[in-house]
Amino acid sequence: MLKLTNVQTYYGQIQALKGIDLEVPEGQIITLLGANGAGKSTTMKTIAGILKPKKGTIEFLGENVTGLRPDQLLRKGIALVPEGRAILSSMTVLENLEMGAYHRKDKGVKEDIDNVMKRFPILFERQTQLAGTLSGGQQQMLAIARALLSKPKLLLLDEPSMGLAPLIVSEIFTIIKEIKEAGTTVLLVEQNAKQALKIADFGYVMETGKIIIEWKSSDLLADSRIVEAYLGRK
Ligand code: ATP
Repeated sequence: MLKLTNVQTYYGQIQALKGIDLEVPEGQIITLLGANGAGKSTTMKTIAGILKPKKGTIEFLGENVTGLRPDQLLRKGIALVPEGRAILSSMTVLENLEMGAYHRKDKGVKEDIDNVMKRFPILFERQTQLAGTLSGGQQQMLAIARALLSKPKLLLLDEPSMGLAPLIVSEIFTIIKEIKEAGTTVLLVEQNAKQALKIADFGYVMETGKIIIEWKSSDLLADSRIVEAYLGRK
């Protein structure tokens, strides 16, 4: 579904991605792991069109989409939930959800918002509340729900569990699994390596701008040396 070939991204003179090759097959959860500063967020921003690669190609559903803008990629079916969520805190929960569907021209938006609220009952209860008053976990659910309202084929999740209490983290991972089961492909960046690998089909490990390991999740989980060396003990 998504294929990166030799993708190189810079911040000015600094090369953050040194030739990334990565594939995300349709219908799977692929997780991208690695220490702070490895280049995971840069990879996500490059896929979503926020950063433009200097070299390499990005193909989505067989089409070369390298260099397209975020709004063009969103229309093609790639939605990003960025690190730190980026919800609109001075707008209500409902307004945030409506923003997720702003580019859609079909008549199904209202029904989709109703369905999302059934799936996330807390957002139904809090729909008239300002998004900034939600707890961290609720804000993450809102950010995910908002992205789902764009009807993505590929959902990019950048550290969705960051800063959340363990119970909420489990809930977020359950939601990600359900999103896959409902037919959306997921690329997941996580610090919480073990939990990510438990729900993922395949894992990539990054170090200083490069992919150093690409294995089936179950094999990564089974190799304690790798888990300890690159992924922490969580
Ligand atoms: P983290 O989990 O800390 O976000 P990461 O793996 O997502 O880590 P990136 O945020 O992609 O890593 O950063 C990759 C490299 O690019 C790092 O060396 C970082 O210092 C650098 N970098 C990130 N953002 C910028 C920026 N806006 N300007 C310059 N350098 C940056």
